[in-house]
Order: sequence, then structure tokens, then C-alpha cells
Amino acid sequence: MYFVSTRDENGKRFTATEAIMKGLAPDGGLFIPERIPSLPPTFTMENGYAYAAYEILKPYFEGDESYDDLYDICLKAFSFPVSIHQGGDGNDTLELYYGPTSAFKDFGARFLAFFMENRLRKTGEDLTVLVATSGDTGGAVASAFHEREHLCVKVLFPKGGVSERQMRQLTCFDGNVESFEVDGTFDDCQKMVKDAFMDPELKGLTSANSINLGRLLPQVVYYVWASFIYEARYHKKAVFIVPSGNVGNSTGAFWAKAMGAPIEHIELAVNANRTIPDYLESGEYKPRKSCHTLANAMDVGAPSNMERLFSLFKTYEEFKENVTSHSVDDLKIRLTIKDVYDESGYVICPHTACAEYVRRKYYKGVPTIVVATAHPAKFESIVEPVIGKTVPIPETLYDMITRDCSYTEIGTDYKDLF
Ligand SMILES: *Cc1c(COP(=O)(O)O)cnc(C)c1O
Repeated sequence: MYFVSTRDENGKRFTATEAIMKGLAPDGGLFIPERIPSLPPTFTMENGYAYAAYEILKPYFEGDESYDDLYDICLKAFSFPVSIHQGGDGNDTLELYYGPTSAFKDFGARFLAFFMENRLRKTGEDLTVLVATSGDTGGAVASAFHEREHLCVKVLFPKGGVSERQMRQLTCFDGNVESFEVDGTFDDCQKMVKDAFMDPELKGLTSANSINLGRLLPQVVYYVWASFIYEARYHKKAVFIVPSGNVGNSTGAFWAKAMGAPIEHIELAVNANRTIPDYLESGEYKPRKSCHTLANAMDVGAPSNMERLFSLFKTYEEFKENVTSHSVDDLKIRLTIKDVYDESGYVICPHTACAEYVRRKYYKGVPTIVVATAHPAKFESIVEPVIGKTVPIPETLYDMITRDCSYTEIGTDYKDLF
């Protein structure tokens, strides 16, 4: 199995290990498999999630230098539960927030961290992971890479630009994880990371952002897993509604469908950042600046994984046949959190609320699975006033946000990171 770049015309091929260790293709494109493999004929859910993950991912690592270690990596990375909440009439919610930082990004970040550690133990190299974050990514990456051998992490976050709980999650680690509070914006943080990568003097740098293949592949797994459970339960193929920003999570769903998982349709729920719904309406793709919303992990105006969806659905017609998307504003996010709580006592985060709104408005009478991307306790300042109640904090999250914070304050010169 080989991977190519979304931009590469001459078809240079890379193994999965090469693609994951590089992050971005040399021509600036994103790595995609030459063809999406089918699920192995031996695929079974009977041996638990980590083993199922191994079987689902195996075809992507056929002939790869890390093939023999894949099961071990899956066992270490996927050490927390995946749960499906049954809301009645086949309207379920796939809860992806039982990992260490209470958001779905734990799946990708942990797989990537254990994968890289496994590889670097063999080559003996050391790498420094640079991440700029405006929220959930930095916490998931910091937690996943903490104590991984041959790796250290530098997390950059904008001063005043992340929530109190997010900040505490970013700054509670010691040892190989260092955090920097940048006196600037998120864009400044991203620019510092870019500048550091461009500096020929700096060696051994890598990124762990959501375009890395090693973060994407584990996001295929839970769609395959959930769709088989759904089919066994309701004798129906799954319709997933995915809260989307950079569309990495939903790309995982499209790859799962292409592998042959019983998936009927995938809908992308977005917040007030309307780039994708506007494209579906007009046929013209216009990336733009992002605007700030209550579902802040989805505040994306130029979704980075669109390049992967465009290489899966090559024409506008094909894209339209396969992808639907609706935008949800802040008022509707609040109302949906409240309605769901009033009706059933179930509490959802602002991102999940976008998908739940779309289910209620556009999928009446069609059973669907809403993907819950974060635990509501991560966004308590939005959720608690709406439902009039405190949300109990998961134990791992509580542990992180009550530890001592340590971080370095810096300006916007990337040289201060080293
Ligand atoms: C990152 C994130 C999203 C958006 O996921 P993409 O893969 O960027 O589309 C949605 N919800 C939460 C809670 C997130 O952290």
C-alpha cells in the first residue's frame, strides 16, 4: 500500500510510515492512499475495539515498516471506551469524548504519539513536535505525547485566546511538554510554527496537526465500529451527522464508507462558518477568514482537509451527490443544548449541538447518528447557564485542570521557543 500527495502530478509514492513521519507531503499537499482499501475479509468486532482498529488499519500498512507493531500501537492508543447513547427511534449519539482530554482528538493524537515513539525507538532519532493551538488540539497533543520517548512537545497558545479550562489542560504537563503563552493571536502562533519549520538551522522538527495521516486514520476506525453496531441493532445503514471544522473527522467517515462499512450517508454540520454549505449551494469554492462562534473548535473558514475530500469526489456533481452540509448559528446552538436537556436530561457540548440541530431540522423521520465530539464539561461556561445546572467533570479532566500550571510567556519571535 502506498500514499501519494493530493497535489502531486508525477505520483511519487510514500509508505504510511514515511507519510506519518513527514506530516505534509514535500509539495505541500496532503497524503492520501493511492486507493482506499476494503475491509479485510477477516474483519470482526468480537475481540474489542483495539483489535478491530488493528484490522481496519492493517490494509493501510500492507508492506509497511511499522506493520508488525500496529496491533501494539492500537492497544496503547485506544485504551478508553467508545460509547453509543441510544436516544430512541434509532436516533443515536456516538460519544467520542472518553479519552484523556475529553474530546475526539484524543484518538488521533494518541495514535500519532505511540506511532512516532515506536518508529523513533527503531531509528534512534529525536523529534520536537510544534503545535499552535486555539483550543482542543494542543491539549490532546500535549497529553498524548507526554512521556513518549524520543519526543518533546512545544505548545503555543495565544494570550487570552483560550478558555480557562483549556489553558489549564495545556499547561499542566512537565517533562517533555513545554507550553508557551504567546503575546499575540492564534495566527501569530501559527506563523511562528511555520517560520520555525522554514529555518534551515533548526533540525528534527515535526508537526502534529490534523492534516497528519496518523491523526486521520484512527478517525476511520470509530465510524466502521459504530456503523456495524448500528446495523446489527437496527438493521439499517448508518447516517452520520458530523460537527465539522477542518473536516478531518468527517474525512475519516468518508474513508470508512469507501472501505465498505455499512454507511448510508454523511452530513457535515458546521457553525456560522459557511464555506462548505455555500460551496454546495453555489458550486464555487471560496475559502475565507473564520468567524468566532460558541463551537470554537469548528471556527474554520478554509478547512484544511477539503483537499482530501476533493480528491475523493473530483467534480462538483460528485461532491454534491455524496456530501450535504448545513450551517448552525450561535442562537440555535444554545436553544438545541436547552431543548435536548429539557426533553431527556442529556447534556451536549456546543459542537455536538450543531449536529443535533441539523438532525432535528433536516432529518425528521430519518434515524441518524450524531457524533458527539467533546464532553460538555469542557465548555461549561456556555452549557451550564443554558441548562441551569453544573455539569459533572470527568475524572481525567478534573485531574488535569487542578494540577499546577507552568508555562513561559513569550513574544512573537519563534527563536524564543528554543
Ligand atoms: C476539532 C474539533 C471539531 C472539528 O473537527 P474537524 O476534524 O476539524 O472537522 C469539532 N468538535 C470538537 C470538539 C473539536 O475539538
